[in-house]
Amino acid sequence: MQGAGKGTLGKQLSEKYGFQVFETGGELRKLSSEDSELGKKVKSIITAGHLVSNEVVMEIVENFLDHLAPGINILFDGIPRKIEQANSLNALLEKTGREYKAVLIDIKKETALKRLTTRRICAKCKTVYPADYQNATCSACGGELTTRADDNAEAIKTRLSAFENETVPAINLYNDKLIKINGELTIDEVFELAVKTLDPILK
Ligand SMILES: [Zn+2]
Repeated sequence: MQGAGKGTLGKQLSEKYGFQVFETGGELRKLSSEDSELGKKVKSIITAGHLVSNEVVMEIVENFLDHLAPGINILFDGIPRKIEQANSLNALLEKTGREYKAVLIDIKKETALKRLTTRRICAKCKTVYPADYQNATCSACGGELTTRADDNAEAIKTRLSAFENETVPAINLYNDKLIKINGELTIDEVFELAVKTLDPILK
C-alpha cells in the first residue's frame, strides 16, 4: 500500500542483495530518451498524453529482461498494480524461466493516511522522507524538503481506494508465493524483518 515504505525497503534490499530494480516510471523516462524502436514508441505515447497500456508495459519488462546479465535477480517496484498486469507479468516470468515471489509490506489504512499526509520529498533529487525524519534538508543531496503535490487528502483517498479495488485482488493471486512483512514497525525493523524472511529464500 502507498505509504508502506516500499521505495525505501526496495532500495535497502537491492543494495543488500544486488537486485536490479524495475520501476515503471523510471523505465519510461529512460526509454523515451533512447533512440530505439521501443523508446520512440514510449515517447510518442507519453507526448500524446496517453496512458501506457499494460501491453506496452509488458513489452518494456521484456526488453528489460533481455538486457539483463545472467544470474541477476530483479525487484519489481510498484508493479503489478492490477490483476491483468499480475497475470501477464507472471506469464512472462514463467516464459523466461524465472522464479518469483511477491512481497507485501502490510500496513493499516490509517497508518497509510497518516504517513502520506506527513511525508516530505526532496525538491532536487526526489528522495522521499517519512514523517519521523528530523532534518530540514535532504541527506543525499542537501536539497530542500517539501510536501508532495499529490499527497493532498483527496488524491490520497483516490490512491488508497484504487489499491483496495485493483491491487488487493492482484495480491490475492499470489497465494503461497506471497510474503507479508509487517510495515507498522520502524524502517530499520522492517528491513531486518525482510532480510530474515528473504535470506533463506535467496540462498
Ligand atoms: Zn535530495
